[in-house]
Amino acid sequence: MWQVISLPAFQEFWRPADLFVADFLSYASDLHKQNLPDAALQAAAARPPGKLGQAATPTVQDYLVQFARCSELRAIRAGFRRAIYSYRTYISYPEQPLLNVTPVTHALVHEAAKYFYGKLTETKGFRETYLGLKGVGETGREYRKRFGELHRTCPYCDQEFVAKVSNTQIDHFLPKSQHPLLAIHWANLVVACVSCNAGVKLTTHLGHSGTAVENLPIFHPFYDQPADHIRCCFNQSVTRFWIRSTAGPGSLTATKVHNWSRVFGIEKQYEAHLPTLRLLARTLRDQTKQAYRRVRASGGTPDLESIYGEMLHLEERKQIEQRRFETGTKLTLDFIAFLRERKHQDLDFIRSDLM
Ligand SMILES: [Zn+2]
Repeated sequence: MWQVISLPAFQEFWRPADLFVADFLSYASDLHKQNLPDAALQAAAARPPGKLGQAATPTVQDYLVQFARCSELRAIRAGFRRAIYSYRTYISYPEQPLLNVTPVTHALVHEAAKYFYGKLTETKGFRETYLGLKGVGETGREYRKRFGELHRTCPYCDQEFVAKVSNTQIDHFLPKSQHPLLAIHWANLVVACVSCNAGVKLTTHLGHSGTAVENLPIFHPFYDQPADHIRCCFNQSVTRFWIRSTAGPGSLTATKVHNWSRVFGIEKQYEAHLPTLRLLARTLRDQTKQAYRRVRASGGTPDLESIYGEMLHLEERKQIEQRRFETGTKLTLDFIAFLRERKHQDLDFIRSDLM
């Protein structure tokens, strides 16, 4: 819900993975151009130069052979460049496919990408050579830990903590099944709570029958500030809750708000907090009454409206300071805005109590 800042830290962690893919495709292209007979191709694939050679497992070597034989290798390389350099534009306007190849080639790239992400990134060679991490380890876990230290709440729901590694997963913002070239690209790797990641996955599966995934724009937590466009709304008795877009109906932003709410089940999740919000409203009114009585007891002439305004302001400040580190801050901030709007009604209520 709150835009993820500290992006350089995440870039630094994963960016060398792009270098690996670039090295891999570049060497496959060298081999492709040499048009070697089978035995010579396999021998050359087993000895890639430089860093690639240190990180290449037998499986990577096998993929080098398959990519070198692929007649659409140029299109794969072009797709990779587009995927990396146009990522930000693409997430807003995902009309053109990033990888323009036949289904057979797409399947090959997907298989390789799945291996790179799921297995290779955890190997000693890759970790030491490309990521600069020590020994065999848990790369995904280390990334999730680093993410949670800098942004403790789930960037999708603002409802769950991602500071605890076991509650988290890495979500491929653009699904790797459709965008395999982005499987280990840093900007596409968003740490989310388990249920939000499952929500995205479910939508992805639903979208497989058609092009729904391509047509499902949502905010990207690295580049958008969803909280600016989402408004949590309440009925007067705070027994109902719904989400509204701050932008006009039919706009891309309104569509993103709608999708965001639907994919992550925000309305349902937040509805559960209505009793807590009603309690907060009561607490703020009680604190106002106490402050009013204190001033009056000390001989002053308290101004009820400004005391209540100050209570709302203090709570708002607290929530703003805690955002990204405490959950539910967006919901609470919008609730305070709601209380401010119906201030006079609440003041009448407080006044009648003070009589
Ligand atoms: Zn979440």
